[in-house]
Amino acid sequence: MEELIEEIKNKKILHWNYRGFNELPQVFKNYGHDVREIYLKENKLTCLPPWICDFNNITNLYLSGNKLNIFPEELCQMKQLLVIDLCDNNIELLPNSIQNLSNLRQLLLDDNYLNQLPIELLKLECLEILSLARNNLITLPEWLGSLKKLDKLIVDNNYLEEIPNRLTLACSLTTISIKSNRLRYLPLNSFISPVNIYFDCNPNVNYLSYSILCQLLELGWEDGKNCLINECRLVMSASKNIKLLVNLCGIKEDKKDIIELPRQLFQVFGEDIKIPVSLWELSLRNLYKNKEDDFFDKYYTLKHDIFYNLLSNGPISICLNSHCREPIFTEAWIVVGKSEECVFLVITLFCSQNCASSFDFPSHGIETLSWDYYDG
Ligand SMILES: [Zn+2]
Repeated sequence: MEELIEEIKNKKILHWNYRGFNELPQVFKNYGHDVREIYLKENKLTCLPPWICDFNNITNLYLSGNKLNIFPEELCQMKQLLVIDLCDNNIELLPNSIQNLSNLRQLLLDDNYLNQLPIELLKLECLEILSLARNNLITLPEWLGSLKKLDKLIVDNNYLEEIPNRLTLACSLTTISIKSNRLRYLPLNSFISPVNIYFDCNPNVNYLSYSILCQLLELGWEDGKNCLINECRLVMSASKNIKLLVNLCGIKEDKKDIIELPRQLFQVFGEDIKIPVSLWELSLRNLYKNKEDDFFDKYYTLKHDIFYNLLSNGPISICLNSHCREPIFTEAWIVVGKSEECVFLVITLFCSQNCASSFDFPSHGIETLSWDYYDG
């Protein structure tokens, strides 16, 4: 006991890792008032004492490698917290009261059993790092893209099939690590901030959009150059997303590959199809271009409306024709090709037949390939 008191007295940073504690020692209650950062990694804690929330000097709390089955509610009353590390515990759910942690910068929850995220996380306006590797997530909510300070999103080793389109609008994002998931495609639109996407070990990703390819190459991306096109697997999932059968003649003899487009795309046309854009698509484009800053607040009550959702999640792409730059939501003219820069197939989206047919592919280093719709 005396030794513990000596360790804690007047300390700002307390190192109590690997001590075998199954509860936070009582001496902390009497002597811990100066402590700002507590390291309690690799102990046997199953809960935290209720008096912990009276310690309003604590900003950083490292509790990885304990035996917590639930996210300690006590923490949600500690508004001053900046860092919470609860990696490697047994947490299945996050409490709604997590919204109180309005100063939190880092929330580290790798190696738990989370399968969903409460929308209350959206209130964590200072959150910069959200780390959720090795959980049971099958989908990520679109609203993650509205976390204004979010800088790093780590979601490796989950069961994710897509990246929310709204993340392309996240203004502070620099890193998405989504290795070893079940991704079927990346977003088609480029991100508004320079984002590095780490997506190794997602064997179903077999194409990129030209916009994303340019963004990745600008950031020094090397992965795509090492991965051979014939290692791409056919995408054979049972969903209703549009699939295209691409003729790889000239690259791989007598081979075809199937690419699956994001679910937001309802209709795509070949560059030779001369029809007008639908009124539905036109109205989405025009509403988006002319929306006022408070559009999403004003129409928040419509949040279950498909129109509202499509608009708030942002365009799926921007017309590649540089004179046009029209936002594209659900309908596009599509050209599939092979880029000199990358061994993935590359798709390019245009807002109209006019834009598609006037684009100079050779000067962008793209060899075009023929494709057909695939009903699989
Ligand atoms: Zn266009």
